[in-house]
This record gives sequence, structure tokens and C-alpha cells, in this order.
Amino acid sequence: MEQTFDIIVVGGGPAGATAAYKLGQNGVRVLLLDKATSFPREKPCGGGLSARLLDRFPYVREFLANGEVPVNPVSRVHLESPDGTRVTYQQGEPILYLIRRWEFDAALFRRAESVCTVRTGVTVRKCTVLPGHVELESTDGEIFTAPMIIGADSANSVIARHTGLRSEAAHKEYAVDMMEETSYDRLQVADREAIYLFLTLTQTFGYGYIFPKTDRLNLGFGCKLDWYLTALRGKGKEHHAEWVETLKQKGDVTGKTDRSCYKAFPIPVSGPLERTYTDRVLLAGDAGGFVNAFTAEGIYYAMTSGSIAADIALRSIRSGRYDKRQLAAYQSAWQRETGADLAHSVEIQHRLFNGSGRMDSLVRNAANDPELLRLIIGYSMGAARYEELRAHMVRSTVPAWVWGKVKSAVGLGR
Ligand SMILES: Cc1cc2nc3c(=O)[nH]c(=O)nc-3n(C[C@H](O)[C@H](O)[C@H](O)COP(=O)(O)OP(=O)(O)OC[C@H]3O[C@@H](n4cnc5c(N)ncnc54)[C@H](O)[C@@H]3O)c2cc1C
Repeated sequence: MEQTFDIIVVGGGPAGATAAYKLGQNGVRVLLLDKATSFPREKPCGGGLSARLLDRFPYVREFLANGEVPVNPVSRVHLESPDGTRVTYQQGEPILYLIRRWEFDAALFRRAESVCTVRTGVTVRKCTVLPGHVELESTDGEIFTAPMIIGADSANSVIARHTGLRSEAAHKEYAVDMMEETSYDRLQVADREAIYLFLTLTQTFGYGYIFPKTDRLNLGFGCKLDWYLTALRGKGKEHHAEWVETLKQKGDVTGKTDRSCYKAFPIPVSGPLERTYTDRVLLAGDAGGFVNAFTAEGIYYAMTSGSIAADIALRSIRSGRYDKRQLAAYQSAWQRETGADLAHSVEIQHRLFNGSGRMDSLVRNAANDPELLRLIIGYSMGAARYEELRAHMVRSTVPAWVWGKVKSAVGLGR
């Protein structure tokens, strides 16, 4: 007998699995579709979880604590500017929790599977919004229908494109991250207790990183898609090998790169789409552009948008109203929680990645100003607010006597 579903979630990554779990837990009949033939599945990613993610989703803290998801918590950062200035920041608490998406996504998926119906090995190729329902067609010609859907099908989202929410001309909106995740038997790093961030990439509009996991080393290099297509022209692997050589010359990495562990994957880095909902459809995670445009942190925003999408979908299902006026509440809800944060990330990306000069002076200033360094790292890891960082930067560029006058004029520090 054919099963009936209240909602279909397309994509079982952090966004989709979070939404599906929340809906299933509330008694909604959910079908979760993913093109992966099974979970665990590979997902190219640095796998850095911010502390705020663990606060927002306490069950993730449990996954890490009970060993379901192996984790390397790091509390040190080596930060290098385009001119080679290096500063090291250290704090008592972990700054970032490094996991492998292989294990992390499987844990989230299993949780969703416990409360909803899942089908893996289903690639959605077409999405049509009809007057009474949404129709999805898979590459095998199978048809799935439901009154509404959540599109959580990643950066190349079919749902976002077929509903007209994302235009085809997306080059300027994407970055590409080229990375390898290789066993320590082959590739080693000088400091396994730290992450390395290299803001070295002027024309490439990006940065490099080394993230040591529990049993593998993850190193990557992100750049704008435009540059990837025009300058690299398909030579991503060669570029990656050169990048690893540079890291070896610096003495940060030893051993051998493993070309079979190399992967490149797109990331949307222009902030959320102008509209993330339409009749019967919500977009969550990368599909909706929910990625920090400065740091490329996406897991936190994927789970947050997935959770908010579930709340709004629940209301629609209970009221039987699926029109875009009803679903507009989704846009307002994510705006309240992450809107300002994501908008700031785009602003910072435009300012800092537009030439190396600003990066150089920022890192050089941070080398002599521990509070500035704390705020830069804190902001980058989601632990400090943009307003705090900006206020400190303004204050440190204004001569002390002017600052004293400003403070007394506005009544601060009395
Ligand atoms: C190399 C790299 C490094 C990164 N490093 C970090 C980091 O350190 N920290 C961080 O927070 N973020 C990082 N990000 C960003 C982060 O990976 C994404 O923002 C996050 O995975 C988004 O989650 P999601 O659920 O929206 O999409 P995904 O995790 O991509 O999941 C989407 C799911 O949808 C399925 N799917 C796709 N298309 C279809 C289809 N047509 N039909 C059916 N199923 C489909 C896929 O199989 C997949 O399981 C990085 C990204 C890259 C590329």
C-alpha cells in the first residue's frame, strides 16, 4: 500500500536530518530522501564545529561525549597573514571541535531515521509545485508527492533552482573548497592540538587551513568559483599538491599528499538567498545559502535553519495552510536568529578579501594587541559578536586622547 506523507525533506545532511528529526518527533509523517546509497557517506568538509553549535544542539555534545562521533577539541589557532606574519592564539576552553562528517552526519541521520521514513539512493532531479501538492521526480523516474517539502539538498540544490529561488547564474555566489582528509600514517602536522588558518590568498579571494582530526589530517584551500574556473581551469589537484608543498616548506606539514583523498566541493558564500520560501517549499542549509561568507562555517547555520524550517512547517501542517504568505514566517524567524550575523559575514568578506593590505594590517595589529586577537578568533569561531570586534577596531585606530573625549561626550566610563 502506498504511504502518505505530510512532508518530504530532500537531503539528509545536517540541515535535512535536523528538520526531519524535529518534525518526526512531533508526530509528523516525514519522508527523508537522500541520493547517497547509504549512511555513513562522504562529505568534503573541514568538520569544524563551533561551541555555539553545541550550545544550540545539546544532543551533539552527547554524541561527542559518548564517543559516537570521535572529536579532537582544539584550543589553539595559528593565524598567518598574506605577508607571512604569524600569530598564535590560545585559550583555556576549546575553540573548535574537529569531527569527520562521515561519522557526524551518520549520527544525525540515524537520529532522524528513528522517527521518520527514509529512502537512500534517491536522487531528486525535478521538483514541480502544483496547486494541491509538490511533485518530486527521481532520476529513476519514481514520483513522490506531499503537501509541502523542505529542500536541504546542498549547494547545487535542485529544489532551489526548480522553484526559481536560486538563479542559474551563480558563479559570483560560490566558492570552491579543495581539500584532502588523509591518514596520519601518511601526512602529519607539527601541532595536532591547533588549527592553522592562512589568510594568504589575495587574488584567489580565499584562504587555506589545516584541521587535525582524531585519526586524519584535513587540509584545504578555498577560493572563489570564478578564480577556480578561470585561473585553475580544472587543475585543482595540481594546485592542491603545490599548496601542500608550501606547507611542507613552512615546516607545518610532513609526509606525502594522497591524491585519492582529494576532493573539491562548492560552498555558497554570498549570504542567504533573497527569498528562502515559496508556496509549499522551504529551503534550509546550503540550499538556501546559509553559510558564513567570511569563515565558510555552514554546519551551525544548516542545523539552525533546518530546525527553524521544521517549526514553521509544523505550523503549516497543523493549519493546512501552505501558501507563501503563511511560509513567509520562515524568513522572519531565521532573520531574527542569524540574519544580522550572516549579513555581517558578507560585509566582512567584501572588506577583508578585497586585497591583502587590510588582512596584513589586521594580523600585524593583532600580534601586538591580545584583545584584538581574541576578538578576531572569537568572531571567526562564532564566540564573539561582530559589534564587539568592530568597536575594538575603531577604538584602537582612534588616538587615546580623542577616544577619551568621545567617551566623556557620550558619558561612557564615568
Ligand atoms: C571543503 C569544505 C570545508 C568546509 N568546512 C566547514 C567547517 O569546517 N565547518 C563548517 O561548519 N562548515 C564547513 N563547510 C560548510 C558545510 O560543509 C556545509 O555548509 C554543510 O554541509 C551544509 O549542510 P547541508 O545539510 O545544507 O548540506 P550537505 O551537508 O551537503 O547535505 C546535503 C545532502 O543532500 C543530499 N542531496 C544533494 N542533492 C540531492 C538530490 N538531488 N536528491 C537527493 N539528495 C540530494 C546529499 O547526498 C547530502 O547528503 C565546508 C564546506 C566545504 C565544501
